[in-house]
Amino acid sequence: MYTVVIQFPILKKTGDEAMSDAINGLIVALQRNGQILSDSGDTLGSILENIWDIPSYFFLLMAFSVLCLILERIWPWRQHQKLLRRQFPQDLVWLVFNGHFAGILVAHVATFLFAWATPYIDTVRSLNILSTLPIWLQFICFFLLKDFLEWIIHILLHRIPWLWEFHKLHHSIEHLDWVGNFRFHWMEIVIYQGLTYFPLVALGIDSTVILSIAVVATLIGLLNHSNINFSWGFLRYVLNSPRMHVWHHGLDRIENRPWGVNFAISLSIWDWIFGTAYWPSLKESPTQQPSHLGFRGMKRFPQSFLGRFFYPITRCLKQGRS
Ligand SMILES: [Zn+2]
Ligand SMILES: [Zn+2]
Repeated sequence: MYTVVIQFPILKKTGDEAMSDAINGLIVALQRNGQILSDSGDTLGSILENIWDIPSYFFLLMAFSVLCLILERIWPWRQHQKLLRRQFPQDLVWLVFNGHFAGILVAHVATFLFAWATPYIDTVRSLNILSTLPIWLQFICFFLLKDFLEWIIHILLHRIPWLWEFHKLHHSIEHLDWVGNFRFHWMEIVIYQGLTYFPLVALGIDSTVILSIAVVATLIGLLNHSNINFSWGFLRYVLNSPRMHVWHHGLDRIENRPWGVNFAISLSIWDWIFGTAYWPSLKESPTQQPSHLGFRGMKRFPQSFLGRFFYPITRCLKQGRS
């Protein structure tokens, strides 16, 4: 039996101190998790206990969420959209589950896998391909690499039928707002982290860089889904934005783009370079957003949290029986 205690020890500090504490806190916690997991004598209990002991990233997630919520209240893009829209409470559950517990649980599993793959990883690491670079340069290199890999994975989520079944949950959003950023299936964390962490660790990424990228990506991800009419000006060719991402959620497919458009996660450059970007002119789309969001056949998609949590596994089981 575990008591849930969420502490916010960095609330009274300045922004820089809080950020520094948050990053250091999570690194120490992750290192300790690794230590715990590498000790075969430890129980699942001690691992779970450890999960509750990481308030810092969660604090930043909450702070960014409040920031986006305030921006939406001050400069709402879709004026009629309510804060407490349908399924808002369920999306809050997804925010806490995916933004905190699922990610950490997957990190634990990954630690086991890393331990198993250590001899191979060490061989690549010994080449010192990127690990000798200064931290800021590592950040740029890894941010580019990770975001590019995630952009490819996102396209695969749309193009491979069984992966699309998992990705449907994110596209079930009908009213885009900041909290929708975290409505996605837990399997996506397994797929994204599984396919991006191994190359990053093998190339020698520093833990500070991992956390910094996670923090920046979280802020951009929340902004992308916010109900604010915002693009980064000329930087829109580099950074994803609400104006760009809303087209990714459009119900109607853009002509000649059967798989969708704007697959960007944090950086929009990949969409512009590889021709998957869509940014209509004011003449083409006076509202600058699709009339409806979602996907075809959404009426048959589960509405409850548990129904969505276990989808599409339950769908496969049902098909197997019939
Ligand atoms: Zn998508
Ligand atoms: Zn989205």
